[in-house]
Amino acid sequence: MPTDAPLAHSFDVVVIGTGGAGLACAIEAAARGARVAVLDASDAVGGTAAGAGGGTCIAGSPLQERLGLADSVDLALEDWARWGGDTADLDWAEAYLRASVPELFEPLAAAGVRWIGVNGHEGNRVPRWHRPAGGGRAVMAALERRARMLPTIAWLLGHRVERLVLEGGRVTGVHARSGEREVELRARAVVVATGGFNNDPEMVAEHATAAAGAERVLLGGGAGARGEGHRMLRDAGARFTELDAVWMYPYATPDDLDPEGRRGLALRGIDGDVWINDGGHRFHDESLRGGATGTAALLDQPNGRCWSVFDARIAARLVIADPHYTDGSTPIRKRVEAFLRRSPFVASASSAAELAARIDVDAVALGDALSQVNSAVGAGAERDPVFGKPLAGLDALDEAPFFAVRLHPMARKNLGGVRTDLACRVLDEHGRPIDGLFAAGEVAGMAGGRINGRAALEGRRSGRASTAAWSPAAASPADGPERDGLPCIRTSRTLHGRRRSRHP
Ligand SMILES: Cc1cc2nc3c(=O)[nH]c(=O)nc-3n(C[C@H](O)[C@H](O)[C@H](O)COP(=O)(O)OP(=O)(O)OC[C@H]3O[C@@H](n4cnc5c(N)ncnc54)[C@H](O)[C@@H]3O)c2cc1C
Repeated sequence: MPTDAPLAHSFDVVVIGTGGAGLACAIEAAARGARVAVLDASDAVGGTAAGAGGGTCIAGSPLQERLGLADSVDLALEDWARWGGDTADLDWAEAYLRASVPELFEPLAAAGVRWIGVNGHEGNRVPRWHRPAGGGRAVMAALERRARMLPTIAWLLGHRVERLVLEGGRVTGVHARSGEREVELRARAVVVATGGFNNDPEMVAEHATAAAGAERVLLGGGAGARGEGHRMLRDAGARFTELDAVWMYPYATPDDLDPEGRRGLALRGIDGDVWINDGGHRFHDESLRGGATGTAALLDQPNGRCWSVFDARIAARLVIADPHYTDGSTPIRKRVEAFLRRSPFVASASSAAELAARIDVDAVALGDALSQVNSAVGAGAERDPVFGKPLAGLDALDEAPFFAVRLHPMARKNLGGVRTDLACRVLDEHGRPIDGLFAAGEVAGMAGGRINGRAALEGRRSGRASTAAWSPAAASPADGPERDGLPCIRTSRTLHGRRRSRHP
């Protein structure tokens, strides 16, 4: 039910969605005096990030410096361009990277977020994935605390926006519903920050074309990531780009607690495992587990699936990246162990031969797969001789019980979305801004429509959204220059004067 529902039905800015993008936007706008309404279909604030890792790609931070990691915006931008391919929107990427310290790292630290480490990820020459204590939940709690202190924000939780209101080609408000109650809010600017579509089976089936041959694609987006904003934007005449750039993880297994049997669980902490296909054969260097490498290898296998095989030592380190199995960023071990005992997608046995029988693969092939790694580890080799997996820090897989967990590709993030300019204005089919309409976060492919291109350097979180989303801040009557009687939305100071468009 609605909380703190306002009496007023007219606002400067209406923000749809209370994820990272929506909240950052609302805060920035309200801090400049704008009257803001924030709506969310959910009764809880925080969106996807509240259950996410919260790892954030930041270049040149004080933490990196303290850790002796020399990084810069230029270096990160080179990595970004190489990794994302030629569809990566480098104007947006550069804007994001330049803002990543002054507008992400520092303000979040000032709001109480503790950055506690920096991880390396595929595509980055320098570790950049900044880890917040308490994961995404702590980041969103800090943002919510800040937002709740701002008196000009009206909260309409439990309100699902059903459509945008258009008058004479301009977006002038939203129509929302809370149970039986319908409300229409008018606004000078509407920001769509509704997240991606990776919790919507039809949209995933339609757009995740790279996985067309796979037996199944698991759903791995946040609960609210159902593409509702995409549909509203489409109805308003918005242009979309790279919707097929669905970032899929290869290390996911079906969530046996999902009554519909469609959700996936991402498995982490098991990097010493071996992957075998339906024939029982290894096929990949399992240390390359990203969307651009591991998923591609998985999709090449019969039925686009495989087994992750590991032993008791690794099982003790398994982390299931899902709110049911974690308390913030701390794994709830009892639940993880229960999952290993209970899931029909997990087999365990006291020997490799017995495990092969349980999962119906050739025992000799499985034995070979394990000995490729175990012999190399035993011989002190740096890499396994067949696929070149680095072995430093890995133990032989020889402690019973042995486990096999079924892996399928899982749609996690949308790297494509609605096209916007650097001021987050939604563009129409002709590349012209639609008056009054803005978009930020995953609905905009993290930012701009395709900030990452086709492969993400992990950790842009709501991407530049955190900074970009708040662009409607400038919609505060006092601040933004007026255009056609409406406030001109702009982005941060760092973006002024940057209007090169490498991609129309
Ligand atoms: C388990 C998990 C872990 C992740 N870990 C990371 C990570 O470590 N680093 C990283 O970079 N990314 C990570 N991601 C991705 C990242 O969390 C998301 O890309 C990001 O949070 C999206 O933010 P957003 O604000 O755009 O949308 P969301 O956070 O999805 O928020 C959208 C909000 O809009 C609401 N909404 C939707 N439709 C309507 C409607 N019609 N009316 C009203 N409200 C509506 C939803 O209820 C939701 O609250 C992870 C994702 C998952 C699922």
